[in-house]
Amino acid sequence: MAVAKVEHIKTIQRRGNLFVVSAPSGAGKSTLCRKLLNRMPDIKLSVSYTTREPRKGEVNDVDYTFVSREKFRKMIDKGEFAEWAMVHGNLYGTSIKRVKELNRRGYDIILDIDIHGAVQLRKSHEGAVYIFILPPSMEALEKRLVNRKTDSDETIRNRLDNAKAEISQYENYDYIIINDRIDKAYKELESIVLSARLRTECTDHKWIKKIIN
Ligand code: ADP
Ligand code: 5GP
Repeated sequence: MAVAKVEHIKTIQRRGNLFVVSAPSGAGKSTLCRKLLNRMPDIKLSVSYTTREPRKGEVNDVDYTFVSREKFRKMIDKGEFAEWAMVHGNLYGTSIKRVKELNRRGYDIILDIDIHGAVQLRKSHEGAVYIFILPPSMEALEKRLVNRKTDSDETIRNRLDNAKAEISQYENYDYIIINDRIDKAYKELESIVLSARLRTECTDHKWIKKIIN
């Protein structure tokens, strides 16, 4: 029997997914998303706008675009956000322009946003994949926030106070990952992305029709 011409398989296009990832602060969402962006091709983070002060090591337009409250309010008035929310006392928002641009370039997109932003997006982006990351326990969450050494005691208290309300929204998500061991949690996140890419609606129908004909 002749060997199939496998090079055609490489031409298949399976992109255009939107992955919405939420978690209580300190659960490990940034760590997991960073790993995914480094390891998987063709997936990009939509960089959010925020009024929060940059943390040590954070780079403007890479981690966030840091703007004043005045600028952020103007962007809200002009309808520039797909969603926005006040989180832990700061404003955060997803730029419609950035999402559209990444989509136009054929990338899968990750949105790292809070529970309120995810609820807003559900109304306009039904086809997105909603993923919630949980810590193994509240004690582990506190330990991680303290060990991260990026926030003051007061900020950590504020984030822990909000965590239970955030976790209670887990049913709004399609997938739950418990970030106990990082490697296991990463594998689970990668599996969700891979299986979303294999959905029939993401497949290159033209390529399949070419095989049939
Ligand atoms: P988030 O983005 O959800 O606020 P981070 O990704 O910044 O959380 O993680 C919070 C802290 O916990 C970081 O110091 C990170 O290195 C650590 N961390 C992340 N995942 C794990 C894990 N599975 N086990 C132990 N520590 C973790
Ligand atoms: P941090 O200040 O720790 O980077 O983020 C605080 C929270 O804001 C996290 O839960 C993060 O997911 C959320 N966040 C970041 N960007 C956005 C955004 O564009 N929109 C919304 N709604 N939340 C965001």
